Amino acid sequence: MIFPTGPGDLVRCFCCGIGLKDFNETDDPMEEHIKYASKCAYLETLFGAEELKRRLVKLLS
Ligand SMILES: [Zn+2]
Repeated sequence: MIFPTGPGDLVRCFCCGIGLKDFNETDDPMEEHIKYASKCAYLETLFGAEELKRRLVKLLS
């Protein structure tokens, strides 16, 4: 799971270690994660390869 690391906006993925910050409250950290680290094994486990690809295409469009 993506979890807050403390005060502020930084969240970090326990799996691939990507840190996500500077997103505003309308951004979904999970979507940011897909956008910047779509190869993460955790995401693939969570969504499945096909769903992950579908979401990535949607995010990048
Ligand atoms: Zn990750």
